[in-house]
Amino acid sequence: MTGWFDEGALVAVLTTQPLDGCLDYRAPEGGCHLGAVVEVPLGPRKVTGVVWGPGEGGYDLSRVRGIIRVLDAAPLRDELRDFLVRAADYTLTPLHAMLRLAMRAPGLGDPPSMRKVYRLGQGAPDRMTDARRRVLAALRDLGGLAFTLGELAEAAGTSASVVKGLLPSGAVVEENSPRDLPFRLLDPARPGASLTDEQASAATALCATVAGRRYATTLLRGITGSGKTEVYLEAVAECLRQGRQALVLMPEIALTAEFIARVRERFGAEPAEWHSGVTMTARRRCWRMLGEGGAQLVVGARSALFLPFRDLGLIVVDEEHDASYKQEDGVLYSARDMAVLRASLCAAPVILASATPSLESWANAEAGKYARIDLTARYGSAVLPDIGAIDMRSEDLPSGRWISASLARQVDDRLAAGEQALLFLNRRGFAPVTLCRACGQQIGCRQCDARLVEHRFLKRLVCHQCGDTQPVPTVCPHCAAEDRLAPVGPGVERLAEEAAERFAGARIAVLSSDLFGSARALKEQIETIAAGGADLIIGTQIVAKGHNFPLLTLVGVIDADLGLQGSDLRAAERTFQLMRQVAGRAGRADRPGLALLQTFQPDHPVMRAILSGEDEAFWRAEAEARRAAGVPPYGRMAGIVLSSAEVQKVFDLGAALARNDTELRKVGAQVFGPAPAPIARVRGRHRVRLLVKAPKQAPLQAALARWVGQVKLKGDVRLSVDIDPQSFL
Ligand code: ADP
Ligand code: ZN
Repeated sequence: MTGWFDEGALVAVLTTQPLDGCLDYRAPEGGCHLGAVVEVPLGPRKVTGVVWGPGEGGYDLSRVRGIIRVLDAAPLRDELRDFLVRAADYTLTPLHAMLRLAMRAPGLGDPPSMRKVYRLGQGAPDRMTDARRRVLAALRDLGGLAFTLGELAEAAGTSASVVKGLLPSGAVVEENSPRDLPFRLLDPARPGASLTDEQASAATALCATVAGRRYATTLLRGITGSGKTEVYLEAVAECLRQGRQALVLMPEIALTAEFIARVRERFGAEPAEWHSGVTMTARRRCWRMLGEGGAQLVVGARSALFLPFRDLGLIVVDEEHDASYKQEDGVLYSARDMAVLRASLCAAPVILASATPSLESWANAEAGKYARIDLTARYGSAVLPDIGAIDMRSEDLPSGRWISASLARQVDDRLAAGEQALLFLNRRGFAPVTLCRACGQQIGCRQCDARLVEHRFLKRLVCHQCGDTQPVPTVCPHCAAEDRLAPVGPGVERLAEEAAERFAGARIAVLSSDLFGSARALKEQIETIAAGGADLIIGTQIVAKGHNFPLLTLVGVIDADLGLQGSDLRAAERTFQLMRQVAGRAGRADRPGLALLQTFQPDHPVMRAILSGEDEAFWRAEAEARRAAGVPPYGRMAGIVLSSAEVQKVFDLGAALARNDTELRKVGAQVFGPAPAPIARVRGRHRVRLLVKAPKQAPLQAALARWVGQVKLKGDVRLSVDIDPQSFL
């Protein structure tokens, strides 16, 4: 019989421990489901695992141990287990590491815990005070709902002891209630925004894919401010009407706040949240409730893809082009691609939303694999900003200054009119380089090959690669000259300094992810700015991502050329997306916007495409270049990084792999390298990289597995395979 194992039956359990494959155990007293989350003995330890199938047998059965207990969580469904296996195969990741991604709920092994809640009782207090009256009023207002002590005290504006003081008389009663409660119901029947014709037909098409309960991917391409969110919320509403669950992925935690507010407005309650800024308790509640059907909608970061949905009916990947969808640490996967895989296993549609789609998605739509819907008009009176270039070759800037006179004049105008301006520079910190004027050396990281970046705010030099920091030295570590170290180049902090001088009296806000202690602090700052709490915003790429700043009418891009240099195959695409997104910040409400790009290369093809506003022309040209080079999305690539404390070891191993490339050549793939990885040393480990290029249809994973399977890793040598590498670091 499938799906159920009687007590004593032999079952295979996959644990999250680094072992090859499953281990056999006996089903516990009372039996267990296929997919059950269990605790099993492993040597002297107890570990968590999942019942993966029937046991294999074929050895001394008397030595098979029993499952200790089945944990209080819904069994992982076939669909999720299937997804983990397919994702592991695709990314060449061991299955146990994949399972770990799906089991990231803290405290799964804890007994179902209870907490104390307080509700209105029948009794009357012996003595009435103002504070007591407020407590009772708060309970009455919320019609019999129960609160935790903290919630109730806060709602009533009293201390916890006032609440406790109401217990003896029975005016308030204390009860135990399970800690993980279902999320409040979302109501799709509440009225949404009244959509424009273009939005309405997009929403109708998307709702039809959701109602179809089949896999399909749609690229929802809409210029910034065209109402993509409004439109995909209608698809979410349809999903809720179907009684299925929806997942909305966002690239940046800071974006979730705005989205949650919109969900509350549209559906009358908040969605579940899943990302690193969420407390342990909230994560566990989310994980469990999705499995039990007590959560209808999750908004989350890429790891939310591995949650145990009971009936996933829609995945939205917002800002689908965003590079942070690629996990670059540990298990290397692209959340966008994995979303498509998971949806196909759930019979659910996917919506990829972006103003500037990735070339991959654009090409899939061209090839007819994805449907494509375009939103071409901004909502309301908002118009797309005008975009212009400031030719820096003819601006005479003194050294150490970055804001051209032309740009500064435009900022002056906005400030005088009471509007907001944004200066964008995609570089965190004060200065990217610290140079010794005596010996000419730059200060580098002690453990990596990266240069240290001065963060004046922290009063330290920071390695953006490994995070190592040191105080800003007064003496050059190379030549010992005193007081000759100088910052070179701009970072947002330095730009803010220049702006404070140039625009005296303006209220300046700096938005850079490292200046905020928490996601919440960053959210608050963004909300303050949106409400008009700053005149001039200085920001890194976090401002480029979908935030709404209705008062903003000017965007100045300080160094539009930054992304054009470098050997990254996606450099042009990234620059294009970033510039479009930044420009899209301007003029969202009723005032026209202007975006000005400071560039030394106004004739560069990417710059020309941005300035002309011909997106399709840019994609066509970029697609042609990639096709000619046989690189993604028209060919396949994989990166293999070998690392070790000993440089010779990794080069020898890399060379051996490159020589023994028969398995690759069999599928038409080619290997390049070994070469030092662009960042050749990280945390004291030397890194070399091999790049594998293959034709689009080649069975690359299988060939790679056979190829790297030839070598045995000894000592501290590590090998990681990155399918479809995004970053060439
Ligand atoms: P996008 O996600 O494409 O950038 P949004 O969905 O955030 O666009 O919409 C931009 C702004 O316009 C938001 O403030 C949104 O509330 C508003 N908006 C868009 N469409 C409508 C509509 N049909 N009715 C009311 N407001 C809308
Ligand atoms: Zn470092």
